[in-house]
Amino acid sequence: MGKKKAGQKPQKGGGGKGKTAMKGHPNSMKPKPQQHQQKSQQQRSPQPPTSSSSAGKSSSQSKLSDLQQQFAKKLESARFRSINEELYTSPGNVSFEEFQREPSKFHTYHKGYREAALSWPINPLDSLIRWIQSRHPSAVVADLGCGEARLAASVSNTVHSFDLVAANPTVTACDMAALPLPDSSVDIAIFCLSLMGTNIADFLKEAHRILKPNGILKIVEVRSRLEDGKGIKRFIQFLKACGFRMASEEADEFLDNRMFFSVEAFKTSQPGNFTANFELKPCQYKKR
Ligand code: SAH
Repeated sequence: MGKKKAGQKPQKGGGGKGKTAMKGHPNSMKPKPQQHQQKSQQQRSPQPPTSSSSAGKSSSQSKLSDLQQQFAKKLESARFRSINEELYTSPGNVSFEEFQREPSKFHTYHKGYREAALSWPINPLDSLIRWIQSRHPSAVVADLGCGEARLAASVSNTVHSFDLVAANPTVTACDMAALPLPDSSVDIAIFCLSLMGTNIADFLKEAHRILKPNGILKIVEVRSRLEDGKGIKRFIQFLKACGFRMASEEADEFLDNRMFFSVEAFKTSQPGNFTANFELKPCQYKKR
């Protein structure tokens, strides 16, 4: 057992910029209809009371309904891209306040995210789940920016799941720059596509604080967020300055994929210097 949850503490922030494009715009996908989607469409378009009355519907009526549905989908997609940009261009504490004020942003974002992920060659979270199951089955894990907490639901480890909104009772809502966990309390800290705020140094400082000595930091990100071929080396230098020792000087190839990179590092006894921030370019989902 162990999908644990904890309390909260105050927030702080930082700054950043830049942009990178990412395939997998939600409009490009043909996902299975989901309850939430069906509901919002029902709310937007008048529904016939019975199936027999729908048989008598004129073609102009059904055409209008199709157009309404397309329009609703475009609006939803635009909203997803706007929330995505907001997350990449705001410090974590600002996003936390905003998502707490309007939790529907989280749900809209994750609906778009799920649809986008259908077009990816792999979902890196699946690789991480397999890695934990096979290599670290009894580690205490912190999933930082856990989204809908699929990691916690997929492994038997104790997993502390954190995100801006608690999608389910296993998740603690907080800004991951201010985690409600004691010092040196987890074996593995994971950021899976979640280094989204502008204050990445603050997120790494928290990961360093909650990790046990020699604990593992695992980061998976979109490769195009690094500016050029030297980006990974600069990122590794940054992680070292933050008090981590790299498992490998190269990006970890366990994902064996050109779309994503991952790095694995260990917490050292060095306190880390978190004054310099690192700028990863935001991902943008293409408009269709
Ligand atoms: N790791 C999950 C979700 C990735 S989407 C997965 O792989 O499926 C990125 C998640 O990071 C989003 O749910 C977003 O809300 C969260 N996030 C972004 N900034 C955050 C912050 N400052 N604190 C907590 N969560 C954050």
